[in-house]
Amino acid sequence: MKSRTGRQRRIVVMLSSLMICGALLAACQNGTEESQDPNGAGKTQQESDGTTVHFTEDKGTDGDNAGGDDTSSSGNSDEGTGSESDNGSAGEEQGSSDDGNGATAEDPLLEKRSISALQTTIDAQSVVTNAESMTVIVNKQRSLPEGYEPDDLVEPNVPFSFDEPHEKRHMRKEAAEALEKLFAGAKADGIELRAVSGYRSYQRQVSIYNNNVKTKGQEYTDRVSSVPGRSEHQTGLAIDVSSPSVGNVLEEVFGTSKEGQWLAEHAAEYGYVIRYLQGEEDTTGYVYEPWHIRYIGTDLALDVAKSGLTLEEYFDEANIKL
Ligand SMILES: [Zn+2]
Repeated sequence: MKSRTGRQRRIVVMLSSLMICGALLAACQNGTEESQDPNGAGKTQQESDGTTVHFTEDKGTDGDNAGGDDTSSSGNSDEGTGSESDNGSAGEEQGSSDDGNGATAEDPLLEKRSISALQTTIDAQSVVTNAESMTVIVNKQRSLPEGYEPDDLVEPNVPFSFDEPHEKRHMRKEAAEALEKLFAGAKADGIELRAVSGYRSYQRQVSIYNNNVKTKGQEYTDRVSSVPGRSEHQTGLAIDVSSPSVGNVLEEVFGTSKEGQWLAEHAAEYGYVIRYLQGEEDTTGYVYEPWHIRYIGTDLALDVAKSGLTLEEYFDEANIKL
């Protein structure tokens, strides 16, 4: 009986997602973000992230650091730069219903992926329709609704790279709680991490972006910095993390440190993924950023990590096999 139920459910899921696809196909041809990468961020070298990302918020250089201290070392806080792609993932993690067990259509993960599929979570203007979802995907092709601001921002109780009060100390509640667990897990393994930059408001992204255009030029800015409304930091689900061992910089060197390697290995256990993978600029729109992690929930994060896909690929309907 269970199998019947499962099969029926599977059929329903398949039909509904086919219908959704069909209906949306016409309306959203831009849904895929594949390689648009207009800004060519992909080309930025590794340095870019470091560099680029590191525009400073308001000043130009380590804006981020504004608050921080350690960060300054390289001055690149990504935050400052405002670069990251920040895409989010789309869907939300609702409960998992089904009694599915593995990889069938009854699999709650497949349901979540389907619900959060890129093609079903964007309108004709390329504005996401699920801004508040834990799986919202925001990137260079997908914008948050104008004026979007999460209503559950809190400050996670973790060590930051700076002392001052600042909006970048905040994250959405669920992500903040998961971050506390991640930091505790790291500490238990002898790994010392620092939170560098979390939430970034639309207004702050505007000033970062404009400042970068003014001081570095439009072309460069677009390679490393997000247009306001398209930064994953604005979702409240992303944060840049570094370590005192590398001076708390947001640069590729963090990826090769033992702390960066710990993060890459364990982030998913706490619901986070390394958002901008190495060699995936064409897909994510951003260069490798080993310090930028994005919360999507533990079940999905583990699945994403196992798949080796970027979030754009993971939530692309073409890769969701029911
Ligand atoms: Zn970031």
